[in-house]
Amino acid sequence: MSSDLIFQPIAQLAVALDAKKISSVELTRAVIARTRAVDTRVRAFNSFDEADALAQAAASDARRAAGQARGPLDGIPIGLKDVIAVDGQPLTASSKMLANFVSPYDATVTTKLKNAGAVLWGRLNLDEFAMGSSTENSANGPTSNPWDLTRVPGGSSGGSAAALAAGEAIATLGSDTGGSIRQPAAFCGVVGLKPTYGLVSRYGLIAFASSLDQIGPFARTVEDAAIVLGAIAGHDERDSTSFKTDIPDYRAELAARRGPWKLGIPKEYFGEGLDPEIGAAVEQAIAFYKKQGCEIREVSLPHTRYCLDTYYVIATAEASSNLARYDGIRYGHRSKHATDIVDLYFQSRAEGFGAEVKRRIILGTYVLSSGYYDAYYLRAQKVRTLIRQDFLNAFREVDALLTPTSPMPAFKIGEKADPLALYLCDIYTIGVNLAGLPGISVPCGFTQSGLPIGAQIIGQPFQESSLLAIARAYEQAHEWNTRHPIL
Ligand code: GLN
Repeated sequence: MSSDLIFQPIAQLAVALDAKKISSVELTRAVIARTRAVDTRVRAFNSFDEADALAQAAASDARRAAGQARGPLDGIPIGLKDVIAVDGQPLTASSKMLANFVSPYDATVTTKLKNAGAVLWGRLNLDEFAMGSSTENSANGPTSNPWDLTRVPGGSSGGSAAALAAGEAIATLGSDTGGSIRQPAAFCGVVGLKPTYGLVSRYGLIAFASSLDQIGPFARTVEDAAIVLGAIAGHDERDSTSFKTDIPDYRAELAARRGPWKLGIPKEYFGEGLDPEIGAAVEQAIAFYKKQGCEIREVSLPHTRYCLDTYYVIATAEASSNLARYDGIRYGHRSKHATDIVDLYFQSRAEGFGAEVKRRIILGTYVLSSGYYDAYYLRAQKVRTLIRQDFLNAFREVDALLTPTSPMPAFKIGEKADPLALYLCDIYTIGVNLAGLPGISVPCGFTQSGLPIGAQIIGQPFQESSLLAIARAYEQAHEWNTRHPIL
């Protein structure tokens, strides 16, 4: 029974909960039992609080018994990446800097999930401060890919993707600055959605690069992603970048929107460096849409080759500024070995931050420094405009773009020791962040050796309804998400 429960989508569990065939306490117990059974190997969680989760589940059951259930998320265990604040729970960003930090408030997405009745379950591992593509840059050690424990789950939201794939949560939230939801979703064989910049409030999200960061869901199905997105989206006065826009009923829209669509295939995303098995799987997805009557058009995003450079200037610049707050004075790690106040800043930051975070702060400080600002930062902002323009030009011709999510499947833990090799993992995902667009990764097959493959669909700003419908059409005709890793 319990192993059935943990792999069911929200949509199905919600029906069973409403029909009183199962209770939230039962479901939450199943998730806890699974986590206890497998997480010593997967290591997706930084921490969890069983008593707190069971209390939330009992409250959900009481609401339902009183006829006051709040919708499909009421009683569903959802895990959060450990950069999203939950009042009274640890918030570490997988950094030594925040190892003992307990959040004094809820992020807006947390409040929204609580209002929807979700059972908040656990704090999920990530690359320190969300900087990375493999979850190896975590002060807590790496998370393993549930499909092959010797491999990475992707990153930075690797814990969120791995926990879901392993049945340790029913859905999870991550954050995506350059691919951190979509790439781990592809590596772990689950759905991952990065919403349009501004659709979901980032109040209570630990900031990495503020002009790029977005929170979004990991889910077993596109429909589940629509359900979670509907719960967390919307304007928030406490995040000035959050957009005032009507939030449609994404789930209802899924059923209402049917193709055929015009899909663009950006030729720059199918070149050198793309793993042939991934290329073949995405070609089959293209053939599927064609057979459905969609018009397939090759398009060009000519500035794609500047995406990585642009991203690593802008993201590090913003990170260097955002991370200045960790000074050893106000909160976070404070060195015990400092001789004076200036030394306290130095020592606290030297001890608290890991190597990748330091590398980015140094790079970001450099590109913002006097004399280099114009040459690097300002120029990167201009190129960013060109990159966005590429996408908008393509969207004059097509409804959405279809690409691989990642050029390679999950690689071995420790395989990519050179930071540059890791940065190259993001070539298909970072353009979407630079342009502020929504993107989704959907399971699109497996390699010969059994590793999941993801296809990315990129949509127009605030057109999540179409994006989800396009993804759903593919998902419904395939059964990739019915397979689960054996642990
Ligand atoms: N892998 C990218 C980086 O290292 C993206 C990370 C993210 O999206 N948070 O910056």
